[in-house]
Amino acid sequence: MKTLIRWFAAAGGLSLAVCAADWPEPPVVTPGTGTAPPSDAVVLFDGRDLSRWRGQQGEARWKVADGFAEVNGTGNLFTKQEFGDCQLHIEWATPPLVAGNDQGRGNSGVYFHGRYEIQILDSYQNKTYPDGQAGAFYGNRPPLVNASRPPGEWQTYDIIFRAPKPGEDGKGVVPGSLTVFHNGVLIQDHVPVKAPTTAAAFNDVSPTGKGPLMLQDHGNPVRYRNIWLRPL
Ligand code: MG
Repeated sequence: MKTLIRWFAAAGGLSLAVCAADWPEPPVVTPGTGTAPPSDAVVLFDGRDLSRWRGQQGEARWKVADGFAEVNGTGNLFTKQEFGDCQLHIEWATPPLVAGNDQGRGNSGVYFHGRYEIQILDSYQNKTYPDGQAGAFYGNRPPLVNASRPPGEWQTYDIIFRAPKPGEDGKGVVPGSLTVFHNGVLIQDHVPVKAPTTAAAFNDVSPTGKGPLMLQDHGNPVRYRNIWLRPL
């Protein structure tokens, strides 16, 4: 028996040693401080210009002033660069002067690949259907909780997106996933992503596994600032 235990201990020790030797050293990333992004992030909007974005056709024409970009009825914005799996940080604020209700109050949205929407809405004391409120994976999954701040206050989403992909034989879909923190609170926990949501810019699953990030113009003057992304 003692011999057996010694043998397992030795085998365990050996496998630990092998594992330790096999792991590559993680790259060094300088974390952000305050509103500064981590050192390996792609900065998509730093409050100054929309040079990394385009409109549905032609240039991005949302209003930029005082360190934020504001929806102004000129259409959805798309990043010029395309991304696959990624970590996204984005800050947004719905209008301080409340107008409208339900889906007509502070509506915008973040679409991964131009296809899969995490809803932006003024969901502070504003009833709507659960899978359409702020933080919903629109039409698919309500948020676990409503972590909304009052209208006019800056709010954050930190999102981990894993892209769905076409099946191996070109049929079906290998699902991706979305994990979302709203103002630091977990609201979507690795939910499956299989098909584009309402008002997507494309109806298919991206054949390349990549696509632009899209911000929705839903006709309400929602503001954005400090948008950065880390490809995974
Ligand atoms: Mg929306």
